[in-house]
Amino acid sequence: MANQEDVFKKVISHAKEYGYVFQSSEIYDGLSAVYDYGQNGIELKKNIREYWWQAMVQLNDNIVGIDAAIFMHPTTWKASGHVDAFNDPLIDNKDSKKRYRADVLVEDHVAKIEAKIHKEVTKAAKRFGDSFDKEQFLSTNQRVLDYQAKADDILKRLGKSLENEDLADVKALIEELEIACPLSGSKNWTDVKQFNLMFGTKLGASADSAMDLYLRPETAQGIFVNFLNVQKTGRMKIPFGIAQTGKAFRNEIVARQFIFRMREFEQMEMQFFIKPGTQQKWYETWKEKRLNWHLSLGMGEENYRFHDHEKLAHYADAAADIEFKFPFGFKELEGIHSRTDFDLASHEEYSGKKLQYFDPEENKSYVPYVLETSIGLDRMFLAVFSNSLQEEELENGTTRTVLKLPAVLAPTKAAILPLLKRDGLPEIAHKLIDDLKWDFNVIYDEKDAVGRRYRRQDAAGTPFCVTVDHQTLEDETVTIRHRDTMEQQRVALSEVKDIISKKVDMRYWLQRI
Ligand code: ATP
Repeated sequence: MANQEDVFKKVISHAKEYGYVFQSSEIYDGLSAVYDYGQNGIELKKNIREYWWQAMVQLNDNIVGIDAAIFMHPTTWKASGHVDAFNDPLIDNKDSKKRYRADVLVEDHVAKIEAKIHKEVTKAAKRFGDSFDKEQFLSTNQRVLDYQAKADDILKRLGKSLENEDLADVKALIEELEIACPLSGSKNWTDVKQFNLMFGTKLGASADSAMDLYLRPETAQGIFVNFLNVQKTGRMKIPFGIAQTGKAFRNEIVARQFIFRMREFEQMEMQFFIKPGTQQKWYETWKEKRLNWHLSLGMGEENYRFHDHEKLAHYADAAADIEFKFPFGFKELEGIHSRTDFDLASHEEYSGKKLQYFDPEENKSYVPYVLETSIGLDRMFLAVFSNSLQEEELENGTTRTVLKLPAVLAPTKAAILPLLKRDGLPEIAHKLIDDLKWDFNVIYDEKDAVGRRYRRQDAAGTPFCVTVDHQTLEDETVTIRHRDTMEQQRVALSEVKDIISKKVDMRYWLQRI
């Protein structure tokens, strides 16, 4: 078994080799934590966005979309709390000169303790066999209980010191836990300092009249400031949602995990406006709905888990992450936040405009509460891509690299391959492409032996190959080869479109939610 680091390196190099993700401005040695999507990456990204959009907007008659600008009036970020509170606690190692997020250092330490618990569980499961009861083991084994108590204590203390802005205690905690710099092993730390994550820029030409702006650090605020516009013009009745996808920018400190943490990234967010007092119900509902959306892609139930927040952001009364098992462990993929009336009430205060809803059932106006679902498109891309990349041992002793992307998300749905470059086979292949291209992306490939072409498409993630051979000339049938099973099926040329459409059509996948 390759170790986690090797697996992750393989993911990054495969993403480059097959035109999915490139380092930004690579010919100038790149720009840290900024990436470009290549010819296949753009298609995968677009399909994920569309899969989200259809599930949220098209299939819910009470959710509509908008596309707000990246630049917003600077007071927006005062009202949202980002100017004052969108900070990360930073700590530098004096020997390696490396900078870290202090909370992440502590959380990684806790993850190591949790890994020990996991190890105990695996050991015990092996020992007890079928009679093993995981829940009972977790609640009675003294060693596990000690580890768990230790992990809980650390996180509780971290949460409390961050909440009280007690940065000296965060440093004390790092020292007490004897956390060392992962790079140098040194425990020689500076004090912990706060660092604002927003990128600033200027609007206007002359220095004295220029206005300080920020690149938006989240798409959510574009939705809040348009709440009334959409509610009134769309005659929306509570409960209703506004969805948006778009770029966000954060000057991230620790940006070493490929497209997991970028400085320029894309979010897919939905703000659901509800009656105050109903937030608990909607929180549970959206947690379930969003998890089901993920599960519908068939990437393994065991790869997801909820993580409830101990430390709540200034705007939230409940929050959970959907975590995914990335090559470097379980990490946040999506956040579900009960934001109360914090945002709308705060924009009311700063703008002096009423941001309320008249509820005809209650016969009164109120500031709605908000339930948010927020997922990073690039992070979702990484989840899908890393989960799909597999090395398979074949019966004949060779291995194949296959990118088992969910067919609905795959950039190219089918490759059309004439067995030979002559005898009229390429002409039939081109004719088939001319028919299929109206429905989905297809490509033509005539180079190399057909086995090599199959492997190339396996690695690129194409779910189907259609081979045109001499028998096609006789009876108008072709072979469809399935990427995941390598199974080959002889079908009539006229059936190809239907067979592939069924497997790649969003409808068939979305119906599983
Ligand atoms: P993290 O704790 O990982 O920094 P966060 O809690 O700050 O994330 P949110 O502000 O809740 O993240 O943003 C919602 C989603 O946006 C996250 O779940 C994640 O998928 C995505 N996201 C946030 N920051 C980044 C980033 N720097 N690069 C890529 N995706 C990001």
